[in-house]
Amino acid sequence: MSSAKEDGTAVAARQLGSMSLGEPVRKDNNDATEPTAKNGTPTKLCSACGKKSDALQKCRACKCVWYCDKDCQNRHWKEHKKECKRIMKELDKRGGKLDLGNEVDLGTLPVLPPQEECPICMRALPLNTPLQNYASCCGKTFCAGCNFQHEFQARKVNAERAQMQQPPVPRTCAFCRAPFSKADEELVAQRRKRVKYNDPCAMHNLALDHGFGRHGLPVDQAKCIDLLRQSAGLDFPPAQYQLGAFHYTGDMGLEQSEEEAIKCWEKAAEGGDVHALHNLGCIEHDNGDNVAAMHHWRLSASEGFRFSMGRLIECFEKGLLHHGELAETIQAMYYARAELKSEDRDKYIEHLKMRGEYDEGFDV
Ligand SMILES: [Zn+2]
Ligand SMILES: [Zn+2]
Ligand SMILES: [Zn+2]
Ligand SMILES: [Zn+2]
Repeated sequence: MSSAKEDGTAVAARQLGSMSLGEPVRKDNNDATEPTAKNGTPTKLCSACGKKSDALQKCRACKCVWYCDKDCQNRHWKEHKKECKRIMKELDKRGGKLDLGNEVDLGTLPVLPPQEECPICMRALPLNTPLQNYASCCGKTFCAGCNFQHEFQARKVNAERAQMQQPPVPRTCAFCRAPFSKADEELVAQRRKRVKYNDPCAMHNLALDHGFGRHGLPVDQAKCIDLLRQSAGLDFPPAQYQLGAFHYTGDMGLEQSEEEAIKCWEKAAEGGDVHALHNLGCIEHDNGDNVAAMHHWRLSASEGFRFSMGRLIECFEKGLLHHGELAETIQAMYYARAELKSEDRDKYIEHLKMRGEYDEGFDV
């Protein structure tokens, strides 16, 4: 189970397609994995460079992913090795058989609409809040990579100005270029103003400011829950997720209730929140409903959430999940994760690592 999010910045607020959990159907063919063909076009996709071609080569170890050539395969090994080794081990154990014959047919992986993008680099926003930035000035959530690059440029400018004995230019928002308010009161006032305009993201952030006593505010759990409920009521998935997490753990003055947590997480999952999708899968699995769990984990994994992939490989090892469906989901996961990467984001992660502030959980 992933832990509750600590911070209030937004994650993808997108709509999922239908998530109906169809009746399990036995499938006893043992076909080699081919990515789902859609309207006859070549759908083999190189997991390293994203090239589509019919002339790709399959990873011989796990038989799940395709590459243009050795170069692409080598380049992707760091990303792929964890899944590859585990699946290869299982295939070895079963003498190379892809399926054991008792797997449940989950059907085609639903195609999800695009995720919310960073308004600066236009790439999908990182899945985890420590790699995002919420700006109270404009109410935008952008990626920490874009923010890092903006601050890096500003520092460079100021270093040059210092050499010419000019005063430094003040820090600004990476999106709207408004001067950064350093004072807590100003920041809280900006958030309050946006709450008045019914901005669910501001509500979510201000809720956690109250809940954890941030930005000079006294801890006020009731206010936190009240604002979270308002935000959740506006169909803001991160707030729905957070409310569910407080119900689940019995924090922030709420009574512990799995039932209430599930209700909140189901709403967040409809909005595409990967943490909610993952946690619902965990609860269903604990209750013995592996089919429902796999449906949820397949969705979160295909959005790039690696925790869910670990659980799916477990299902494959138990003979519950077809190798083909596992392969399809792995390919979708790598595709999503490639979309989530950028040079600036990598630089920011490097910077955090250098300062000892990086947590593996930032990139699950
Ligand atoms: Zn390639
Ligand atoms: Zn492999
Ligand atoms: Zn960005
Ligand atoms: Zn701004």
